[in-house]
This record gives sequence, structure tokens and C-alpha cells, in this order.
Amino acid sequence: MTKTVPTLTLNDGHTIPQLGFGVFKVDPDETMRIVTDALEVGYRHIDTAAIYGNEVGVGDSIARSGIDREDLFITTKLWNDRQGTESVFDAFDESLEKLGLEYVDLYLIHWPTPAQDKYVESWKALEKIRETGRARSIGVSNFLEPHLQRLLAETDVVPAVDQIELHPAHQQPATTAFARRHGIQIEAWGPLGQGKYPLLDEHVVAIAAEAHRKTPAQVIIRWHLQTGNIVFPKSTRRERMIENFDVFDFELTRSEMSAITSLERVGRVGAHPNEVN
Ligand code: NDP
Repeated sequence: MTKTVPTLTLNDGHTIPQLGFGVFKVDPDETMRIVTDALEVGYRHIDTAAIYGNEVGVGDSIARSGIDREDLFITTKLWNDRQGTESVFDAFDESLEKLGLEYVDLYLIHWPTPAQDKYVESWKALEKIRETGRARSIGVSNFLEPHLQRLLAETDVVPAVDQIELHPAHQQPATTAFARRHGIQIEAWGPLGQGKYPLLDEHVVAIAAEAHRKTPAQVIIRWHLQTGNIVFPKSTRRERMIENFDVFDFELTRSEMSAITSLERVGRVGAHPNEVN
């Protein structure tokens, strides 16, 4: 098994490991153990957020790992109640302090929260943070095409990524096409459908899994990688972390890819971005 994770280049020139590890709903008390496991397995890209309440645990495991900071890619996110200008600077400082880091690789606006109408102002604050070098790249999350259009029209920096709910049952073709046209990389959250959507039981996934002697989860992760998505499945279990990382010794055929792509059915498992405020 090769452990080489491919990297993608962002529109600001920085590179990002295409496969990482997400820590949504990872209990703060367990984060240290879980992220330490993930780093031992080989993950070097960790996706957290202020609202997850586990930035301290992520930071502790990084500090104790002894891994060179330059070999890690760490993302965190601004929570909705901190959108604005000064509140963004304060929230960012708090996140960095909790993580115990001098910089993050990627800082995201977590949701557009359109009813607040502060995401343009918040983005301008992120642009300033990026200038300081304390966030190497900046991006957004859960932004749909109209939200991206507004940022492109009213601000200077094009987001490096848009992190959206994306899995074979909910592929968001309009948002992804718009983002890719403008050089914005797509990060797929809930890549396995969060276990809520029965993606792993789909017949076409099972057939591909059998053909390659892989598991359904490995097939879905492979589908993301071959689609060009950045992906960071979450698991609290070390054996699944290993499984989800072991996806670089096989390739789905064109017909397997299109069979999985045809599972699209707007099977959203999370909230609609316009309804989170
Ligand atoms: P995922 O699609 O990664 O699914 C996680 C679920 O799948 C867990 O229940 C996990 O269970 C299970 N699972 C993991 N691996 C396997 C496997 N190999 N076989 C079977 N089941 C498996 O959902 P997430 O919501 O966690 O998404 C990934 C990351 O995306 C998050 O951790 C977070 O970093 C980010 N995210 C961002 C959001 C945003 O608004 N920007 C929203 C939601 C997530 P177990 O832990 O028991 O193994």
C-alpha cells in the first residue's frame, strides 16, 4: 500500500493534501487520542472548527506528535456568531491560541448566514488576516453560487476553497461547477453521507468494492479523489482511519465512476445553507 497522499494546488499557490481527517463531533475529551491516532496512521491534514470545541485537543496532539509543522495542513473555521470585523479578528486569535499554533494553513467562514448579511464584511477581515501570514490560505464553507458571486463582485481575494456537503447522493453540481470555473477547490464535507445516508449499502458501490477487494467506504473516498474533491472522512476508530487512508492502490474505472455519480438524488443530510443563521 502506498501512503502517498496527492496534493492539490490552491489558487494562491499553496498546496493541500487531498485526503485529510475531520473532527466534527469528536468529543473534546477524546480529541487528543483520536487525532494522535490519525497522525500515527499517516494523516497530515486535519479539519476542525471553533464550534467543534476541540481545537485545544487538536493542538495538543500536534504539539506532542513531534511532526514538523510544515508537514501538516491545519484548517479551522469562524463560527457564525463571530461574523463582522473586530469579532473576526478576536475569534481568529482565540482559535490560534487554542490550537497553540502560529498560523493555520486554511481559515474558513463556516456558513454564509445570509440573514445576518455579514459575510462580505467578514471576508474582508479574513483578507486582512491572510496578509499577516497567520492564515496562509482563506476560504469559505457552505457557500452556494449566489454567495460566491457576491464575494467575487465585492471583494479582492477569490476564496481558495468552498467546503460544502458533498457525497454521491448530493453532488451540488451548480455550486461545484461555478467554483471550479473560478479556481476555487471543492472540499467535500460529509463525504460518506455522515453514516445517515445509506451510501455504503448502495449496490453499485458494493459491486465496485468487490471488484477491487476494497470496502464500500474506500470506494466512496476513491470516487471523491478521482472527482477532484478534497476530502477528510471522520472516524473515532483507528481501524477505520487506516481503512479510509488505504485508498491509493486502486483506481475506479470510468463506468464505476459514472455508476456512482448516478446516485445523485439531492440527498442532503445537513442543513440548507440559507437556513443556518
Ligand atoms: P463523514 O461522511 O466523514 O461520516 C462520518 C461517519 O461515518 C461517522 O459516523 C463514522 O463513524 C462513519 N465512518 C467513518 N469511516 C467509516 C468506514 N470506513 N466505514 C463505515 N463507517 C465509517 O461525516 P462528517 O460529517 O464527519 O464529515 C467529515 C468532516 O467534514 C467532518 O469531520 C468535519 O471536519 C467536516 N464537516 C464540515 C461541515 C461544515 O459545515 N463545514 C459540516 C460537517 C462536517 P465512526 O466515527 O464510529 O467510525
